[in-house]
Amino acid sequence: MPVYRDSGFELFDAATMAKAFNEEKENEREPELYIYSRFRNPTVIAAEEEIMKLENSGWALLTQSGMSAVDTALSIFQNGKNNRPWLFFTEIYGGTISFAESVLQKRRGLEVHTFAPVNERYDLKIFESAVKTLRPEIVYFETISNPLLIVPDVRKIIKISREYGAITIVDNTFATPLLWKPLSDGADIVIHSATKYLSGHGNITAGVVCGNDNELMKAAIEYRKYVGHLISPDDAYRLNTQLFTLDVRFKRQCLNASRISRIFRDSKHINRVCYPGSEDHPSYGEAVKLFGNKGFGGMLTLDFAGEKDSLKREKRDTFIKTVSEKIKVVPSLGDPYSIMMPVEAVWGSKYHEPGMIRLSVGYEDTDDLAEIISGALEKI
Ligand code: PLP
Repeated sequence: MPVYRDSGFELFDAATMAKAFNEEKENEREPELYIYSRFRNPTVIAAEEEIMKLENSGWALLTQSGMSAVDTALSIFQNGKNNRPWLFFTEIYGGTISFAESVLQKRRGLEVHTFAPVNERYDLKIFESAVKTLRPEIVYFETISNPLLIVPDVRKIIKISREYGAITIVDNTFATPLLWKPLSDGADIVIHSATKYLSGHGNITAGVVCGNDNELMKAAIEYRKYVGHLISPDDAYRLNTQLFTLDVRFKRQCLNASRISRIFRDSKHINRVCYPGSEDHPSYGEAVKLFGNKGFGGMLTLDFAGEKDSLKREKRDTFIKTVSEKIKVVPSLGDPYSIMMPVEAVWGSKYHEPGMIRLSVGYEDTDDLAEIISGALEKI
């Protein structure tokens, strides 16, 4: 697929141009005649087709960021007279929480509610009674949360939501379609920050919205066009080629995370390792049920031990300093090399554990990575 950088496409004469515009809304995902690259672009469509295969979806629409995918997925359900609330799980990306509060609630006047876990587990009996009482129009959650890596019983959430007439939107960024395909289990919309694992090289900012319902697709195409959320053809081209290696990259990331989790678990400096593949993780049962033997993702969060907060912070900082040549402090995830984020610096007091570091495990050589981590833990 070439990179079509044209902003406008040649339409030859008045009749062809009229046909292009008249039929634009009737067209399925791929138009017969391309008009303008903010509307649709052949290079973008080629990349979308790859994502449709991965998510097993009837359609996929690329946007210029994960947040524009979140905006598109939610905004297509806004119709100027929404009088039912929208329900967001609390353990979701902070930017999505801010979007729900600042844009949906404060600017657009929607009624936003949240559902929180108890002791890092979502109690679905409480969820069911909340849904029964609230009758939300939308239920929004993530397959693997951040930074505690909670995996809810997603199939049950979808089932309960459906029973009470709610649409489900799943952010599947952390799991990727390699661990779970939400549409196959009845979710209505799936979104990704393609900035992360789908592109996987820390060099593209992009998002994608996927679904099966044709009317939702048309609404999303229209919304993306009016707000100008379409990804650039260059980014779509690069994403497309980088998707070819998703399977290899992500499998190595899962393998590396599993190995590293054991090294941390065996260290006397570590109070706790949050990794859904560990038997002591509150979501272990749900994770095994959902992912089987495919892996548990490439993320883990560790917490340094210490009698006082100051000691925890000291150990955290020593670790960061010792590994910083190889493992950098970068606020993203899914990159080729392992990168990390001190939790307190980003989430403030939301998680009261100052020794916490969230690690996005890369797909570098497993033994090299293990040596870096073990060596740093020995120096503490
Ligand atoms: N969803 C999740 C789970 C994320 O982690 C992020 C960003 O970190 C986003 C959505 C937003 O994606 P982007 O930064 O590509 O806009």
